[in-house]
Amino acid sequence: SEKRKKKVLILMSDTGGGHRASAQALEAAFNELFPNQVECTTVDIWTDFAPWPYNRFVPAYQFMAKNPLYWKAFWEYGKFPPSKWGTEELSNLACHHRFKDCIEDQDPDLIISVHPLCQDVPLRVLNTLGRGKRQIPFVTVVTDLGGAHPTWFHKEVDLCFVPSDPVRKIALGMGLKHDQIRQHGLPIRPGFWKAGKDKGQLRRELGLATGVRTALVVGGGDGIGNLLEITESLASALAAGGSEGKKSQVVVVCGKNEEMRRNLERRTWPPSVNVVVKGFVNNMDAWMGASDCIVTKAGPGTIAEASTRGLPVMLFNYLPGQEEGNVPFVVENGFGDYKKDPKAIGEVVSGWLMSEEVREKMSKKALEASRPSSTTNIAKEIGDLLFGNWQLPLRKDTEDKFNILLKKLM
Ligand code: UDP
Repeated sequence: SEKRKKKVLILMSDTGGGHRASAQALEAAFNELFPNQVECTTVDIWTDFAPWPYNRFVPAYQFMAKNPLYWKAFWEYGKFPPSKWGTEELSNLACHHRFKDCIEDQDPDLIISVHPLCQDVPLRVLNTLGRGKRQIPFVTVVTDLGGAHPTWFHKEVDLCFVPSDPVRKIALGMGLKHDQIRQHGLPIRPGFWKAGKDKGQLRRELGLATGVRTALVVGGGDGIGNLLEITESLASALAAGGSEGKKSQVVVVCGKNEEMRRNLERRTWPPSVNVVVKGFVNNMDAWMGASDCIVTKAGPGTIAEASTRGLPVMLFNYLPGQEEGNVPFVVENGFGDYKKDPKAIGEVVSGWLMSEEVREKMSKKALEASRPSSTTNIAKEIGDLLFGNWQLPLRKDTEDKFNILLKKLM
């Protein structure tokens, strides 16, 4: 008889670019390890299934990412146990049946969450489906790097994949057991798994100037941060420093921030600096591979990707809370720095570009901190669960607290 493909449901929400990129990375790893045996479906469960206002997380996130004070408040609110509890109960009340429809409709053999807000309600749904009997394994793959919000960690998951020691610590602090936790690194897309093509070749393919020092400026999937001022400062520092007639190049990737892209395209730049402006690119591995260093917000995905390309990393801002820990991850591992002031960024980064020695040293450190096999390792372990090579410990059917309450009330 023909074997049915195993169905994997990946739950996420498109807040930023990192969660979708991680989902794509995992899907690619399944396809490589288990060709034609796994069918992945990725769902932005909040946007596509939750009622208002829960379906507005993505624009709310975009707003808060640009207004860090709001973000900070939201982060702390979600961390504070009573408000965390209250919010979870309310979201469950509003979204439970819709998420249940989604999961029943998908009828997955395994569920992966790559988002901090996709643990609690989906796990409650699994409990009402009689998880002990149906044995749908549920795993979390944390896509933050140097720190992570408490909502990532749920005691009822079968496995929780963490990328780093600090995140492992938080998981243990949230009550997860050692044998639930696995540590490999962040999932990254296939273009980052192996050493890429040579810089010169990539530059030709991308239509960039060859033989010139090149910096890449990025603000995550949403193009967050003062990319304009940073590029201006960098371009003028490079123009001032390149007095021996040497040219240089700055590539700015604005992601989904169209307004920023238009603003940058309108500028004129010093003649010795070739500034190339892009919107959202789907071949970040090529753009990173063509560059000598990167200037970015402290996004976990971007940092993990840049490390596999051996890029020195200049961080220009971070979201309070989740991205804070990414700064020491870069600085303490010796492959970058953090500066807020665009002028200082221009000076330091142009210094990096001028000194091959400094660049090589940082590049080596970046490669040491990189985990190019992380995605394959994660997919292998999930595959063991999926194909039954590793049995789940039998769990008691912990009936949903909410449903018990509801039954009492009715
Ligand atoms: N990214 C991309 N194209 C772009 C801009 C960003 O593919 O034009 C990817 C980037 O390579 C990374 C992700 O989007 O994988 C951004 O994730 P990160 O965790 O750095 O930041 P977020 O946007 O999630 O805050």
